[in-house]
Amino acid sequence: MSKIRLRFAPSPTGDVHVGSIWLAQFNWLFARQQDGKFIVRIEDTDQKRLVPGSVEKIYQALEWYGLTPDEGPEHGGEHGPYVQSERLKLYHKYVHQLIKQGSAYYCFCTPERLEELRTNQQAQKLPPRYDKLCSSITVDDASQRVAAGDRAVVRLNVPTTGTVTLDDVIRGKVTFSYDQIDDSILLKSDGFPTYHLAVVVDDHLMEISHVLRAEEWLPSTPKHLLLYHAFGWVPPVFAHLPQILGTNKKKLSKREGAASALHFRDQGYLPEAMQNFLALMGWHPKGDQEVLTRTEILEQFKLEAINPSGAIFDQTKLDWMNGVYIRALALPDLFERLRPFWHVPDDGWAPEQLLAALGLVHDRLVKLSDIDEAINFVFPSAWNAERTNVDEQMIIPKKGSMDIARNNLRILVGWLTAYTGQWTAVDLKAEIIKAIADAGLKNGDVLWPARIALSLRSASPDVFDLLAVIGYEESIRRMKTFCAA
Ligand code: GLU
Repeated sequence: MSKIRLRFAPSPTGDVHVGSIWLAQFNWLFARQQDGKFIVRIEDTDQKRLVPGSVEKIYQALEWYGLTPDEGPEHGGEHGPYVQSERLKLYHKYVHQLIKQGSAYYCFCTPERLEELRTNQQAQKLPPRYDKLCSSITVDDASQRVAAGDRAVVRLNVPTTGTVTLDDVIRGKVTFSYDQIDDSILLKSDGFPTYHLAVVVDDHLMEISHVLRAEEWLPSTPKHLLLYHAFGWVPPVFAHLPQILGTNKKKLSKREGAASALHFRDQGYLPEAMQNFLALMGWHPKGDQEVLTRTEILEQFKLEAINPSGAIFDQTKLDWMNGVYIRALALPDLFERLRPFWHVPDDGWAPEQLLAALGLVHDRLVKLSDIDEAINFVFPSAWNAERTNVDEQMIIPKKGSMDIARNNLRILVGWLTAYTGQWTAVDLKAEIIKAIADAGLKNGDVLWPARIALSLRSASPDVFDLLAVIGYEESIRRMKTFCAA
């Protein structure tokens, strides 16, 4: 069997879209699964669209998502250079071959003529096409004009009749009529190739066996097949993947915030959760299992099983999945991963205390960036800062009153001051629940005001856990601030 080689070929035109990484991961998965190679190639031929810093973002995203290339600008390899702007000579060589054999031609039309052509076609409701005017210039004449300094582009000479059929792995056979295809530009007048020429030359020279790319390139594929044919090269296997859509079935836009691949890193999603989540978009293993390790995905993944009709990016599912992965982490590991996110106030807490505090919210975190909001109230400085803005009414239990709330807090403070047992959640719970029952009170009427006083929030960890982590003196202090009428 021939070698399996896949490539991820991003253009450095800004933030890396999460859809690109989704695509890159399928390339990576297939390459890994087939014992093949995963290659990164930077497609920077459209110099006008380049955005400084994008290449670095591409590398960062690939690394964070665990998509290590076997070959690429940073990793080297036998098929380099892996940046298209460093391969211009190669494209020139191949475009000359095409011109010589009549598969491409020089076009000298001015922008004004092309504009006029377009306007006329529009008026006649015809699709915009180049009218092949320059294809009748002989190669010798055209070459002389170019040598004399005339500005020219090179166009693909598409047959005017006939069809070409693509056998797409996930879409099956798709037939295109040549009369629907424009004589696209292959080489621009600045000497840079267009995508069509560069992608075919590079995929061939880099011995790419499978091209998994976005469906937006499907209409370009007949041009690419023509080029393969003109060069006498065997085309790779093609699979055009659907576009990623939001749950509203609309394109996932950068404005919604959730479109940049690195946004998820910065928001505190775990890479392993993202890998799992992205793999299940447009593909599903047999059975109901949703949480899969990469090894399990690699075992089960089938390229042909990718659904061609759209992949839905479900943020709710991602949040759920990230929570699952966070809960699976051991506390010290979670603690390490939280370093860039957790702004621990300078209250002098020892690492064991921090871990104990973290333990209280381990199963509540959706993403790492939730940590400050979830737990920082345990620190006296953060609690003090928030306390002044808290509505006192919050301590009123359901069907209770302010008097009941304050009174019960006073009772609880009294019990705790007299308590001589161990200051642990288990012991405190046994003691307090018994005292509440002995006093003929309701759990909620005592524990609700306590929860609010300790955490200043209605959704917070268990009261007994809070008491244990916050400590005796600080807990009493907090509750007393709510007792005063
Ligand atoms: N440079 C193209 C892009 O960024 C790659 C298209 C392809 O994979 O052939 O979408």
